[in-house]
Amino acid sequence: MAHIMKCKVCGESFDRDKITCIHVGNRYAHVECAQKAELKGELIEPPQKDPDLIALEEYVMKLFNQTYVSPGIRKQINQYHDEYKFTYKGILQSLIYFFELRGNPIDKANGHIGIVPYIYKEATTYYYNLYLAKIVNNQKNINDYKPKIKHIEITPPKAETKKIKLFNLDE
Ligand SMILES: [Zn+2]
Repeated sequence: MAHIMKCKVCGESFDRDKITCIHVGNRYAHVECAQKAELKGELIEPPQKDPDLIALEEYVMKLFNQTYVSPGIRKQINQYHDEYKFTYKGILQSLIYFFELRGNPIDKANGHIGIVPYIYKEATTYYYNLYLAKIVNNQKNINDYKPKIKHIEITPPKAETKKIKLFNLDE
C-alpha cells in the first residue's frame, strides 16, 4: 500500500516508502527540498523521533546485522504502526519474543519482520503478564514466566510462487 505524502517544501506528492524523505515537523519533505529550504533559512524544526522507534530500529539493525534499516522493513514498520495501530514498543517486543524467547531462527525471516502481525497480540500479552507478575512478586525468576516453547513450522520459500507465505500459521 502506497503512503502518498505531499512535500512540505515543493508541494509535490510522493510515496513515502519509495522516495528518500524526511520528517519535517508533522509533515514530510524531499531530502533535497528540505536541504534547500534549510539553506534559505526557511523551515526547519528538527525531526522529533519517537524514542520507541529509535529503539526498534536499533534492534532491527542488530537483529539482521545491518547498519541501516532496509526500505522493506521500514515499510513494514510504517504499515504496522499506521494501519494496524501497533506501537513501536509492541513491535519491538514481538521481535524479541519471537526470535529470542521462542528461539526462532533469524535467517528464516529473509531480512523482514512479516511475522509481527501474527504474534503481536501474543507477545504484548506476554509482556503485560510479565509486567503484572513482576509487580506481584519481584522475587521470582523471570524465566518462570517463559511460555512453553511452541514450534512454528517455517515453510521454505517456493521460487515459482509469487506470494511467499513465510510462516506456516495453520496450527
Ligand atoms: Zn519536494
